[in-house]
Amino acid sequence: MIKIENLSKSFGRRTLWSGVNLDIERGQTLAFVGPSGSGKSTLLNCLGLLEAPSAGAIKYEGRDITRFGRRSTRGFRRDVLGYLFQNYALIENATVADNLRVAIKPGRGSSNRPRVAIDEALHRVGLAGRGKEKIHVLSGGEQQRVALARLMVKQPELILADEPTGALDHANTVMVVDILEEMSRAGCAVVIATHNDYVRDRCDSVFTVASATTSASPVR
Ligand code: ADP
Ligand code: MG
Repeated sequence: MIKIENLSKSFGRRTLWSGVNLDIERGQTLAFVGPSGSGKSTLLNCLGLLEAPSAGAIKYEGRDITRFGRRSTRGFRRDVLGYLFQNYALIENATVADNLRVAIKPGRGSSNRPRVAIDEALHRVGLAGRGKEKIHVLSGGEQQRVALARLMVKQPELILADEPTGALDHANTVMVVDILEEMSRAGCAVVIATHNDYVRDRCDSVFTVASATTSASPVR
């Protein structure tokens, strides 16, 4: 679905990574691992069009997304991408249901999977009947579950998760991985930047983001 071709990123004279070649497939989970500072978030952000690589291409359906103009970028973010962050990125002062409602795009008919209703998504993440509660009264694990439910409602084709379990205990970590895996099996591609061995081992493949390497390659 996504082909990363000879991608590199430098800040000034410092090369973060270079020569990155990678296929990201629908129905698969992929872990980005590597020490802190190796550039996992930067690589995810290049996929999410939040940062520009220094060289190389990221092909989606044959088009290089790094060369998208403003309009195509907006469309890609809206129709293809789903982001999951360690800090949940929820609207703190709004209710659970409102945080899910913002993910529903009016009139979008491009997905052939059935739209998952808000109630159903909340049920799936163990928050049935909690739609009227404000985000700021929820625990960290509950907030991450709301963020997951929002992804289920949005049904992106590509999920980019940056340390999504970094602030969670093991039970919540398992729940997050279970749901991300389930969404991948339903047909989307999932990329998870993580330093958690359990999360890495649950993924279908692992890519080590190595500092200043010239030949980064898939581990398995
Ligand atoms: P990771 O997610 O693997 O911990 P990051 O992608 O967050 O790594 O960061 C990789 C490195 O790139 C860090 O050393 C960071 O300081 C550096 N970096 C990130 N953004 C910039 C920037 N805009 N200018 C200079 N250096 C940056
Ligand atoms: Mg990071």
